[in-house]
Amino acid sequence: EAAVTQFRTRHRIHLYGGERVAHPIRSFRPLLDLLAPALRRNFAAQSGFRRPTPIQMQAIPLVLADTDLVACAPTGSGKTLAYVLPLLHKLGTPNPMGGYRVCIVTPTRELATQVHELFSVLATGMEFRINHMVKSRPTESDTTEEAHTFDILIATPMRLVTEIKNKTIDLSQVQHLVLDEADQLLELGYLEQMDTIIAACPHAQLRKQLFSATIPPPIEELAQSIMRDPVRIFIGDRNA
Ligand code: ADP
Ligand code: MG
Repeated sequence: EAAVTQFRTRHRIHLYGGERVAHPIRSFRPLLDLLAPALRRNFAAQSGFRRPTPIQMQAIPLVLADTDLVACAPTGSGKTLAYVLPLLHKLGTPNPMGGYRVCIVTPTRELATQVHELFSVLATGMEFRINHMVKSRPTESDTTEEAHTFDILIATPMRLVTEIKNKTIDLSQVQHLVLDEADQLLELGYLEQMDTIIAACPHAQLRKQLFSATIPPPIEELAQSIMRDPVRIFIGDRNA
């Protein structure tokens, strides 16, 4: 236990609440042994991922453990992989008519595209259906019927809220909701949309994970209003 605490300190991982839930991972290797062969292969093919970054060290095991999570780590520190990899593992296999089980909300189309790319690369050959919903309006191919066949939704707030209000999207099976770059969601004025999105995810086993470079007070309030006792991770100088 002392060694674990020391390891966290060395990597400037500040953890509040999940100390006994999940130890940080020191390398990707033991994790790879858990993964389905296709996911393991796809991950290994990404030669850029040699060692986990501090946020990945601590967030990956917590996402695997299904905790509600507030994760704060600097821009460029690898927050995307910290949730994409464990969520793909949790999904296991595609469920063709089951509906969305994972919903990722990102502030901008560009970020949504980056998240989509990482999901796609790591899920190569696994036949997950990933919907990348960023256009301001639905297109002809976005029929309701087709939407039921997706496993993963990556969306920007306005479009998603439009779909929710029009009752053209079903989020009843979403078990993992990620609010990515939450400080940017706030800056762009999307807090109200977050309430609508959360209210549209009624699953009893819904897990919420919030990732952000900073946690300004309104984001802290959002976290407190939507999560019960989330585990918190801060990477870096705690007083920064
Ligand atoms: P953040 O969301 O924290 O701003 P990103 O998830 O966008 O950061 O990652 C920033 C960059 O770091 C990306 O180019 C990504 O591929 C790379 N990266 C992520 N994890 C690792 C890792 N473990 N080792 C090396 N590079 C990584
Ligand atoms: Mg990011």
